[in-house]
Amino acid sequence: MAVQTIKISLIGNPNTGKTSVFNQLTGLNQQVGNYPGITVERKQGTVRLGENTKGTVIDLPGTYSLNASSMDESVVIELLLNRNDKDFPDVAVVVTDVENLKRNLLLFTQIKDLEIPAILVINMADRMQRKGISLNIPYLEEQLKTKIALVSSRKGTGINELKELIVNYKYLPTEPCLNASSIDPDYFDKLRQAFPNQLLYKLWLVITQDVNFGQLERNEIEKSSFTKSKTELKRLQQKETIKRYQFINNVLKQGQTVDTAMAKDLRARLDRVLTHKVFGYVIFFSILLLIFQSIFAWSSVPMDLIDEGFSWLSSYTSKNMPPGKLTELVTEGIIPGIGGVVIFIPQIAFLFLFISILEESGYMSRVVFLMDRIMKRFGLSGKSVVPLISGTACAIPAIMATRNIENWRERLITILVTPFTTCSARLPVYAILIALVIPNRMVLGFFNVQGLTLMLLYMLGFASAIISAMILNKVLKTRYKSFFVAEMPNYKLPLAKNVAITVIEKTKAFVYGAGKIILAISIVIWFLGSHGPGEEFKNAEQIITNEIGNTQIDPDKLNDKIAAYQLEHSYIGIMGKSIEPAIKPLGYDWKIGIAIVSSFAAREVFVGTLATIYNIGSGSEDEATIKERMKAETDPETGKKIFNFASGLSLLLFYAFAMQCMSTLAVTKKETNSWKWPLMQLFGMSAFAYLVSLITYQLLK
Ligand code: GDP
Repeated sequence: MAVQTIKISLIGNPNTGKTSVFNQLTGLNQQVGNYPGITVERKQGTVRLGENTKGTVIDLPGTYSLNASSMDESVVIELLLNRNDKDFPDVAVVVTDVENLKRNLLLFTQIKDLEIPAILVINMADRMQRKGISLNIPYLEEQLKTKIALVSSRKGTGINELKELIVNYKYLPTEPCLNASSIDPDYFDKLRQAFPNQLLYKLWLVITQDVNFGQLERNEIEKSSFTKSKTELKRLQQKETIKRYQFINNVLKQGQTVDTAMAKDLRARLDRVLTHKVFGYVIFFSILLLIFQSIFAWSSVPMDLIDEGFSWLSSYTSKNMPPGKLTELVTEGIIPGIGGVVIFIPQIAFLFLFISILEESGYMSRVVFLMDRIMKRFGLSGKSVVPLISGTACAIPAIMATRNIENWRERLITILVTPFTTCSARLPVYAILIALVIPNRMVLGFFNVQGLTLMLLYMLGFASAIISAMILNKVLKTRYKSFFVAEMPNYKLPLAKNVAITVIEKTKAFVYGAGKIILAISIVIWFLGSHGPGEEFKNAEQIITNEIGNTQIDPDKLNDKIAAYQLEHSYIGIMGKSIEPAIKPLGYDWKIGIAIVSSFAAREVFVGTLATIYNIGSGSEDEATIKERMKAETDPETGKKIFNFASGLSLLLFYAFAMQCMSTLAVTKKETNSWKWPLMQLFGMSAFAYLVSLITYQLLK
């Protein structure tokens, strides 16, 4: 027997537990992508509904109503208005929160007007008893002309009943639960006559929104003299909303009873502390501090393991594969390349673990509210806090996290400044440079100067982000009105399943997004470093042996000499040398030049490249560590150390400011849909970095 597939759309206000219902239905059978052409996330999954029935579930972006005010909301409307869309639902599952029924039902009544079979999910049923809420389900079903599933996606109750209702969607009533044309009977009458084959409420939505659907284009309506002035339409929209709320109030009066004495609870008291003008910030920054401490403390163990694992793998393969180009490619290009991606997984996973716990618990909304006051002054939104913090793991998921900022201008500014925050790719660079040039001393008894420097670099990252936001806020022409919808959901214990899925998804996004590029670069760098154009590269051994003549020399030293000569004449050596005049004033030699050139693709390549530069071809394994090699580097002309205080600081600042990450540029391009903004990041940030490093070196040398 053929398998029947039911198309299901999950719809609902933000924070009603829509994602939790989606996770309950689909488990890990979900794919996340984008809607074509725009940057709104599209989640789809499958659910088994019976022997021969399955469902494809689309989790539509959270929306308050069908009156679009953000890109996310337009997605919902455009799908629901277009019966020819391949995703058009057989059944709409509208998720509401039992504690916010009044507000949540507005959207439901609108969807009923579209005459789509709809199931009403009343979620968070587990909270009813504590809140003193009871519902008269048969009455509500009759008034709202629907079937209701009382669900707790936390406890997993009611999900089977929901599935049952979905399977039987054909028996759902499709008539509206209130009469939309009463908004303006004359006008609706005229509409009905002009477009007899169209659904009235659809027409109304197309007229009031900036959307098209199916065979009905806006232009067609506009041509047909049905236009009303913008203010008149706004007035009618308001009238519609009031009518809907009147209806909902009436229904709930009989369908729901709330014991208000019981409903009074901790929430108000918690809110008072957590959004307090002083304590609010103190608590928030303490939590941040705690998170950072744990990210670094907990990640270091798995990171070290990964590091050791990959270097073991590399030497194991090099010993056990036949010598040749392929083996070199695998052991010096591919394995370290994959290692360079995998090593970031612990930090990214921990960061998103914390962020998603804060979000799930309802605390993040308080932070957004708290920070909005401050962030607005810099042209940012309270919601920019999340991307700016996420940026400390990686700018890629951070920029993706700007999607829930409704205001385009604030979103753009957030995207542009996020790369300034100290991402984890800068960490290895900072770590090695600090160890090299900053003394390992204590000040004031317990502050370690190296640790302090690292903290200052993090603060520098945030400060540059905020200051550049302020400048962009002055410079950018686009003016958008800003609404701030303070959504304050109830405090809740985070659902482990939701947290786990967020962590897995964000980590996947990093591995597949940035990972591909980092791996590719490692291979390219390996190739450029182990191949050269001229005779010098090919005959390095000959040339060096001739040069030495009969002098006795340790064979290891000889190999090093050959390798160094070869590297100098490899493609990458030639590139590094050719930019030397430009970077000399910053205190760098051509070897650092090579590392800088290669890390324009990804910063973390810096350390790897230096390792390669100092190790390629030398073969011997009892080699001093990179750090000691770097420490020993001297300028052949002056005999001075290459990595000294002045050049080290200049390099640190260069890495703090320069836009050296192809993946971030790619994500910015994707999220802003234009090359203008990523190019501005690339040139603006890098030029600034050059200038700062130049000044630093010239002052300190
Ligand atoms: P969405 O924004 O609508 O996708 O909502 P989420 O699925 O992210 O849930 C919002 C919050 O409600 C999270 O903190 C969830 O843990 C919580 N939540 C979801 N379902 C339930 C439920 O059935 N009972 C309770 N008590 N909390 C829930």
